[in-house]
Amino acid sequence: MKLECKIKIQDRQRTNGSSTLKAAKGVIGLAKSNTDQWVLIVRLFKETSTTQYKLRENIQALLHKCINNGMATIQIKVPPHDIQLSEANVESLKTLLSSVRLASIGNDLPSTIKSTSVNAVQKLQRPTLQLIIKQAIEYPTLKGFPSTLEKLIVNNAQLRTPVDRRIFILKNLHTLDLSDNNIHELPSNLEMNHLHTLIMRSNQLKSFPPKNFQSPVLKYLDLSQNQIEIIDQALLKISTLDRLNLMSNKIKIIPRNILRLLGQLQVFNIASNQIRAIPNGLACGGAHLHTFYYSENPLITSKCITCQRFNFTLVELALRAVIKYRIPYDFNIIPRTLCLLLADYETCAHCALPCLTNFGEIIVPRQLSANGITVHVTAANQSFSVPVQERYCSIKCFNYGLKRAGMTQMAV
Ligand SMILES: [Zn+2]
Repeated sequence: MKLECKIKIQDRQRTNGSSTLKAAKGVIGLAKSNTDQWVLIVRLFKETSTTQYKLRENIQALLHKCINNGMATIQIKVPPHDIQLSEANVESLKTLLSSVRLASIGNDLPSTIKSTSVNAVQKLQRPTLQLIIKQAIEYPTLKGFPSTLEKLIVNNAQLRTPVDRRIFILKNLHTLDLSDNNIHELPSNLEMNHLHTLIMRSNQLKSFPPKNFQSPVLKYLDLSQNQIEIIDQALLKISTLDRLNLMSNKIKIIPRNILRLLGQLQVFNIASNQIRAIPNGLACGGAHLHTFYYSENPLITSKCITCQRFNFTLVELALRAVIKYRIPYDFNIIPRTLCLLLADYETCAHCALPCLTNFGEIIVPRQLSANGITVHVTAANQSFSVPVQERYCSIKCFNYGLKRAGMTQMAV
């Protein structure tokens, strides 16, 4: 039998357990030697030679506490090597360890365990981890993709909807770049558990994410140069994102809750859209936001009042209480319209209380650098200050905002 996984061989005498060696992909197997004894053979793909270890009365210990995570260590007596295995198939690893245990006490192995040929192990190729396709003719239409791929780049290959589903079943994929194609829609029910980078630049996407999109470690999402009109609330649920590029789309509004939901966001690019002003929640910066691109938007350039609605209603007071006391809610308990209001509320720019349906709003140019955000502009005629929508919860707070902006205050 043989098993492909990550392997690290550590010499217990040399390293005192503090080795800086990195685990590398390789293969470990069981073979019968010329003297009819079971031996362990190990080969790292980056090396051409294999190492053999005698098994009978030569195992010091088998460490298998994390076997269900695909990890184990085989400690050999002579030479004093620790063979650390990780990212292994759990069932194969269990079979390997039980076989090693049997062989170490001199028992024969079950007939299902076949001896691996050393020659075959030496001939094994390093698995293909990366594939770059730069034109349609290179696309493996018939052959499909190696299942071991970790990085796949398919540019200028005239990919269109429906997109080849074989791409999305590659279990090990961490980087997927489908830029410069003609994709209108991604398939629904995608589950990509290792994906940290998704680049869909220069396609025809109208919305993102597709229905039932699961990508629990996605950090970098590039949707620039598409046809997106709305930043979907489902996109804001990808809370692991730290870089989001929405440049050159048709977006009119930045959701007020963007940084509340994307708490890890560091770089946000909304340049070349149809944004008139940015919400105060974004202008104040999140815990991590440091870079904001907003050039080439039809921004409002002068101070103005956009809303004055201070007739307090029971709904407003109730919704403020739901937020303040963190009362759980969903579509089954309260009407959908109220759920949507609760999802995208703004906080008062003066006292930080939530405002939902009743508030006063002014748009004032502000420098975001005061909040530690670097603003990138490219157009020469645009200033570094950004029009910010400030909302105020009451006439008292509103007057404070007007005064700060140098505007005429309201009579109370
Ligand atoms: Zn207030």
